[in-house]
Formats: sequence, structure tokens, C-alpha cells
Amino acid sequence: MSTTTANDLYPEVNSFLESGILKGIVGGKEVESTGGETFITSDPGSGAKLAEVFSFQANDIDQAVDVADEAFKKTGWAQMPQNERSALLHRLADAVEKQKCIIAQLESLDAGKIEAQAQGDVQNFVDTIRYFADLAQNVQRRSVLAVKNHEAWTVRQPYGACGFIFPWNFPFLLIGWGIAPALAAGNTVVIKPAEDTPMSAIYLGRLAKEVGIPDGVINVVPGIGSEAGAALSGNPKLKRMSFTGSPEVGRLVAESCGRNLVPVKLELGGKGAAVIFNDVDIPDTAEKLVNAITFHTGQVCCDATRWLVHKNIYDEFVGECVDRLQDVQIGYQLDDTAQMGPVVNEKQHKRVLSYLEKGQSEGAECILEGGVADVPGYKGYYVKPALMAGSLDNVAAREEIFGPVAYLAPFESEEEAIAMTNSTDYGLANSVWSSDLSRAARVAEAMCAGNSWINAHNVFAHGIPYAGINKSGMGGGVLSVETLFDYWRGLSVVRPL
Ligand code: NAD
Repeated sequence: MSTTTANDLYPEVNSFLESGILKGIVGGKEVESTGGETFITSDPGSGAKLAEVFSFQANDIDQAVDVADEAFKKTGWAQMPQNERSALLHRLADAVEKQKCIIAQLESLDAGKIEAQAQGDVQNFVDTIRYFADLAQNVQRRSVLAVKNHEAWTVRQPYGACGFIFPWNFPFLLIGWGIAPALAAGNTVVIKPAEDTPMSAIYLGRLAKEVGIPDGVINVVPGIGSEAGAALSGNPKLKRMSFTGSPEVGRLVAESCGRNLVPVKLELGGKGAAVIFNDVDIPDTAEKLVNAITFHTGQVCCDATRWLVHKNIYDEFVGECVDRLQDVQIGYQLDDTAQMGPVVNEKQHKRVLSYLEKGQSEGAECILEGGVADVPGYKGYYVKPALMAGSLDNVAAREEIFGPVAYLAPFESEEEAIAMTNSTDYGLANSVWSSDLSRAARVAEAMCAGNSWINAHNVFAHGIPYAGINKSGMGGGVLSVETLFDYWRGLSVVRPL
């Protein structure tokens, strides 16, 4: 099913789009790339150009890191009493919340994200800033050490300029998850948004200036990954680097950081499983997993993409899922009746379609075919949801597709389900579904990943660590007390008595 009506653009969104070539934000100023290079960001739902953006080159990135380094040393941000720094971060959160609908509409246009979901992402950003601003005021940065013949203590200090590279699937929300703990701890940041989705980051850079965050504390450097991203991750003046994106690029970023001995955090892809036992409420579980796989058109790193179903309920469960997936409303992201928008670009469109072909050629059964979806009036990158089934050795069961495609396989025993879940190089997030909560807890603990969810998928709350292991990431993850402490370096101070 498809639809064709779309919400009007807010006047502020129109004026942002008409404000000329979009510039980066460095040292509180709007800045062009020195050579005048640009790139285009487009609407995935219509294919139309949204804006031209200055494309930062290696020397522009180096200058931005120098500015962030200077801001760390000279603006007083790092030394500011914690309550003052947190107050400024709260002002930023308040300003973003006030502009929520505008930022969300820009994000929706740029990422192809359903507008209401983009509003949820912006609110999540606000909540993340507030969480870390408050947390930083309520933890001890000093610990006295009781060591014979010594007066000694440890103190936690911010590092300096921190680099961040973000992907296009949750552009604004992930910026919050990344920079909030770094800023709350007193560091300065250089943000490289994905070239597909630079607009919300640029909007944030402008707001940071308006609310009085000192110049140079939040810098935004739009550009292409192989140029701007590579220059940022290879800059030796950075004190910390954080990358969220694919394992392939994550490896390059980690190599560069390794050469410079810059500590790096990687939040990478996944191939999560949902293990569904035969004592579940079948329609309810089918509903929740269908919602999960179609949420943001399946472009979610922690999604359940392998559905492992007890053999006694397999056929009934599949039937429930097929009915629901066929009813999903595919439409333009600013159309309030649409449940699933486009994928982000032509490359991603081809990628999803190619996995349907490759999976079938390796012997997977196509329970629900998927393929190109037609949305009348829009020349965007739309796909239908698909269900595949068969051996877990199949390429569509092994590799991250990043689209609304789930792969099904039956299991008989708990041990088999655990072994199937763990038969992947990834280790981001899985879920277990059962009304036997003891069994659910046992299976959840046996799953080899950073996150196990029970009777739900995609569960996030500030204070619960979210991290990947193995090919899904390293460095401790996001969203928790540990994340804040991670942005302070420890220093021991000792005086012999
Ligand atoms: P990507 O790796 O292609 O790009 C991510 C970022 O890296 C972009 O900003 C890009 O410009 C930049 N980049 C590209 N080449 C670079 C290079 N050579 N050096 C430095 N930077 C470079 O990923 P994507 O396609 O934007 O995002 C999808 C991937 O992100 C998926 O694998 C998904 O699972 C993962 N992801 C993970 C999490 C998590 O929290 N674990 C969250 C969201 C997305």
C-alpha cells in the first residue's frame, strides 16, 4: 500500500534550506571549505536535492582540530565548575527541545526517516544531554587512597579535543549519545556527520553558538568519509576518537588511531537474533518483531534480523508475520499515514535488493519476496519488507543487510537456539521471547553480545550501557555512567609522608 500526501515544511525549515551553501561550524563561526569544494545532500524519499554543503578537506579538518584543542586550553570550558558547564548543556538541551519539530523535519527530509520517529530521535538527544549534564554533577571525580606512608588521591580530568564520526541512520540521536558525555566531562568535540545527513549537525552547531557554549567547544565539519573522515581519524592532536558506522570503515579508523596512539571507541554493525520459544503470545510477538524490522526501514544496527523460532510454532508465527508485513504502509517520510519510509540512498537500495538475490541464489527460500516498492508521486528509494528462510550459512543470514529483511530458521532445543544465536562474527544485540522468565534470563545471559533483551527488541534507557563486542565494536559503548567516566583520564597524586 502506498500514499501520496505530505506535511508542509515549516517556514524555518524552508529558510534553512534556502540559506545558501551550508557551512561547517568551527570556532563558533560558519566556515567554508578553503578550496570551495561542495557536495549535495538529497531527499531519499523523492530523490530531489535538498542542499549544497561545503565539503571539508584534510587541511580544513586539521584546522578544526586545532581550534578544538585551543578551545580546550583557553576558553575555560575544561576548568569551569561542573554546575556551570552542566547549566550551559541544559541550555543547549532546552534550545534543541524548543526547535524539536524543525530539527526533526530537517532530519526526516535528509535521512528519509518518518517525521514522528525523527521527533523521537530529537527528544532522545535532549534527554541524553540532560542525563549526562546531571550525572556529571553527581559523581565523585576525586577518591582518597588509604596507602601506608603516603598521602594519595586520584582525580579525573578531561582529555582535550575528541573526534566523532557518525553514520546516517540516526544522525542527530547518535550525536547526542556520542558528544554528551564528552562535553559534560569538559572535553571539546569535532563532529563529522555522514555526507548523506549533514543538516541536523549543522543546525546543532548554530544553536550551540546561540546558547553561549564557548566558541570552539562544539565544531561541525561536513565532508566526505574518505577525505574528511579519514583526515579526522588520522589527526594526531585528537585525544580521543569515536566512530559509529560499518565494521569495514571502523577497521580503517582504528588503524589510523592505532598509528597515532589515539584511544578509539567503535560502535559498529550487527546481525542480531530474536529467539522465540513456543510459549509466547504468537500474534503479540509477531507484531513486535514486525514493528522492529520495519522501524526506520530496517536501517537499525541492533535490529533482530535473524528470527529463530521454535519448530512447534514456526508455521503459525510465520503466517502472522507475513500478514502484518503485507499491511505495512510504505510512503513518503513526511506523510503521516506512512509506517515505513525509503532507504537512505541509491547505494543502500541496491544493497538491500542484491541481498535478496544473493540469498536466493545460495538456496534461501523467499517467504515474502520484498523488492522495489512504488510510491506514486515519489521517485525515492523504496523497498518492500521481505522474509527469507533457510540455513544460517546463507549470505543473507550472515551479513548485515541494513534493510527490512528478516531471515527465519526453526530450532528444537534451548541449547540449539543459543548456538544458532552465537554463530555470528557480530555481537551487538539479541532478544529472547518466552513466558518462562527463568528460561528467558538463562538464555539472555548465554547470548554472546553486548545486549540481551527479554520479550522486547531495541530497548534503550539512559543508564543502561549499550555496546557491541567482536565485529560489532569495542571501547565500552554508550549511554551509561561508564561512558561519562570514559571521557575523564585518571591521574594519581602522591606525597610520601
Ligand atoms: P559507514 O561506515 O559507511 O560511514 C559512517 C561514517 O564514516 C560516515 O560519516 C562516513 O562519511 C565515514 N567514513 C567513510 N569512509 C571513511 C574513512 N575512510 N575514514 C573515516 N571515516 C569514513 O556507515 P554507514 O553506512 O553510514 O552506517 C551504517 C553502519 O553503521 C551499519 O553497519 C550500522 O550497523 C552501523 N551503526 C552502528 C551503530 C552502533 O551503535 N553500534 C549505530 C548506528 C549505525
